[in-house]
Amino acid sequence: MSRTSGGSAATDGSVTNRETPSAVTIAVDGPAGTGKSSVSKGLAAAIGARYLDTGAMYRIVTLAVLRAGVALDDVAAIGAVADGVQLSVDQDRAYLAGEDVSTLIRGDDVTAAVSAVSAVPAVRTRLVAVQRQLAAGGGVVVEGRDIGTVVLPDADLKIFLTASAETRAQRRNDQNVAAGLPDDHDGVLADVRRRDHLDSTRATSPLRAADDAVTVDTSAMTQEQVIDRLRQLVEEHCGAIR
Ligand code: C5P
Repeated sequence: MSRTSGGSAATDGSVTNRETPSAVTIAVDGPAGTGKSSVSKGLAAAIGARYLDTGAMYRIVTLAVLRAGVALDDVAAIGAVADGVQLSVDQDRAYLAGEDVSTLIRGDDVTAAVSAVSAVPAVRTRLVAVQRQLAAGGGVVVEGRDIGTVVLPDADLKIFLTASAETRAQRRNDQNVAAGLPDDHDGVLADVRRRDHLDSTRATSPLRAADDAVTVDTSAMTQEQVIDRLRQLVEEHCGAIR
């Protein structure tokens, strides 16, 4: 949770929230393909904060579920896997029971199954608790779908990134092609739309902007422009960057 201390006394005696940016808690939410991961990492580096990728955690649990051979509609068995799973994340790296699974969790099998696994309430309960522990103390940019609404409702700054489905699919497809995967714009667009639908219509913690989030439409922006815009928002909301 974000800290409640650390504010500074204003001349009128009221307490303001102008903390040093390195101690702030920043929530970055939005659908797949908005550039969330890259800009969250870039922002964290720019302000000297840690970076926490909560999507990677849902992907690790999904990999564990697939390895256990559990059916994706077996909610009880998925919950049991989530309860027993030993996972950790460290900036860019993801570990399942000590094994580095950073590449495996980005594979097609995990991507196809992750929305179903992350819709299971027991999975969310477990991971939200871990995420709150990891974010405790601040100095962190936390990226996900429900960070501003559920995980860290008291975050110092909440950002909701958007972009059209077409733009997001184009970006994802370009990344795939650059990584040597086949050019499949239509397939990627269908997957983006499918995940948008599943993530925003699920009963538990659906993807949505928090009421007090600042929405940034990245459709016509480069990654650097988005990072600059987020730095500006940190300055406005959390005090000047040192
Ligand atoms: O961010 P990324 O695409 O890696 O997230 C993978 C999936 O994990 C999302 O499509 C969503 O189903 C789930 N997720 C979630 N809540 C979060 C982060 C990710 O449900 N906070």
